Parts: sequence; C-alpha cells; structure tokens
Amino acid sequence: MSFEDKIALVTGASRGIGAAIANSLGSFGATVVGTATSSDGAKKISERFKNLNIKGEGHILNVSDSDSVENIIASIKAKYEAPSILINNAGITKDNILLRMKDEEWLDVMDTNLNAIYRLSKACLRGMTKARWGRIITIGSVVASTGNPGQTNYSATKAGVLGFTKSLARELGPRNITVNCISPGFIDTDMTKNLPEATREELLTSVPLGRFGSPEEVAEVVSFLAGDTGAYITGENIHVNGGMYMP
Ligand code: NAP
Repeated sequence: MSFEDKIALVTGASRGIGAAIANSLGSFGATVVGTATSSDGAKKISERFKNLNIKGEGHILNVSDSDSVENIIASIKAKYEAPSILINNAGITKDNILLRMKDEEWLDVMDTNLNAIYRLSKACLRGMTKARWGRIITIGSVVASTGNPGQTNYSATKAGVLGFTKSLARELGPRNITVNCISPGFIDTDMTKNLPEATREELLTSVPLGRFGSPEEVAEVVSFLAGDTGAYITGENIHVNGGMYMP
C-alpha cells in the first residue's frame, strides 16, 4: 500500500483514533494534515509527525466553524494541493437522558459530529472531482445501529452519517470518489477512559472478543479503505467492534 502522491486531511488527529489514523496513513507515505482544536495540540501533531518521519503537519481546526473549515482547505491547497483523502474523525459526546438534555448538548453534538461532515466533505469535493480520485471516510459508531441510553444526540448524529455516506457514495461514484463509514465499538481512548471500572466490565460482557479495541485496529481499516485495496468499496459501513454487534 502506498499513498506517496496523496494529501490526507485527518480531523481530530491530536489523540485517540484520529492520531492512529494519521500515523497509519503517514506510515504508508501520505502527506498528512492532522488537526487539533488548539495551537498547542497542532504543534504537538507536527512534532509527532517529525519523530515518526511522516510528511505533513498539525493544523488548528474547529470543525463546527465554517470559516475554520474554509481556512484549512485554503492553506492545504496553497501549500500542497487539495486533499484527496478526507477522514472525518473528530467527534464529541455530551451524554444525558433526553428528559434532561439541554438544547446546547443536543446542538453541540449535531454541529461537531454531523454538520461538520457536510462542511468538510463539500469543501473537499472540487479537488477530488478534478483529480478524478478521492476517498471520504467518516468514523461513525456502533450506537448508530444499536442505540444507547443517554446518547440520543450522539447516536442520531452517527446514524445521520450512515445516510449521508450512502447518498454521497451514489452521487460521487461516477467521479471515482468512494465514500464509506467505519463504526467502532468500544475503543480505548479518552472518550471511554473515564467510564467507571464496573461499567467497563459490564460493557465487556457484550463483546465476544472480551476486550476494548485499540485505535490502531480502527486505523488499519481506514488505511485499507483509503488504499487501492478499497477501490471497489463504496457506500459501505464497516463495523470494528469485537463482535458486540453483528448486523
Ligand atoms: P477522543 O480521544 O475524545 O478525541 C477526539 C478528537 O476530536 C480530538 O483530536 C479532538 O481535538 C477532536 N475534536 C473535538 N472537538 C472538535 C472540534 N469541534 N473540531 C475539531 N476537532 C475536534 O475521541 P476518539 O475516541 O478518538 O473518537 C474519534 C472518533 O471515533 C469520534 O468521531 C468518535 O465519535 C468515534 N468513536 C469512538 C469510539 C470510542 O470508543 N472511543 C467508539 C465509536 C466511535 P482536541 O484534542 O484538540 O480536543
């Protein structure tokens, strides 16, 4: 697998699954622009890439801000060329039962997890169309398929990602751009590390493989889809969940 001539934009590459994805694509030769919400986070990504001999750098991005999205695409085009691999990874949770959910908790999760996918994918389309090659891969979640109490907002965004992916795949197939989704189960990152030990153990009883997944195990599937290995796969949702949900 080689991504030598490819520019990849990975949102939320400062930690967790996004960091592993950026490292994986970079290890196969892609020039990677990985994002963080702070300049300190962006600087740390640049340092990490340098240590790992990965081409590219960290960049500041707030996916819920249209100007920030426009800025990053413009600066990638100015320095390299338009990204032909877009990994929509950045995401947040603001859990609450619906009865107590505040508008802000609903809207923030919508904006970061779903509206951002619209903004970023649209911003990358012109470049991919011109190149007649592109990959858009969004990180969804198993809860889009199973539901989860306390996560009506989060699971609605991740289910939205599935419909978005299938529709866009149909629009872009004729342009040789594939659009796919990967739905992780429980992965060991900051998002899951604060779960009480008892809850973690309880959750694991529903996972046949009996453990949380690692960010790298998700990243490997992303690189597979992004490479020539994934050339004939589009509109698909791949579950990476240790068997906790089998469609
Ligand atoms: P994480 O460790 O909490 O990292 C979240 C990343 O998103 C960070 O890089 C963060 O940047 C970035 N981010 C947050 N808000 C942002 C915004 N407004 N604009 C731009 N970037 C923003 O999360 P993770 O566990 O790796 O999750 C990555 C993706 O996988 C998410 O879409 C998540 O929903 C999905 N997922 C995770 C799991 C799991 O078990 N962990 C399971 C299913 C799906 P900063 O570092 O600057 O804050």
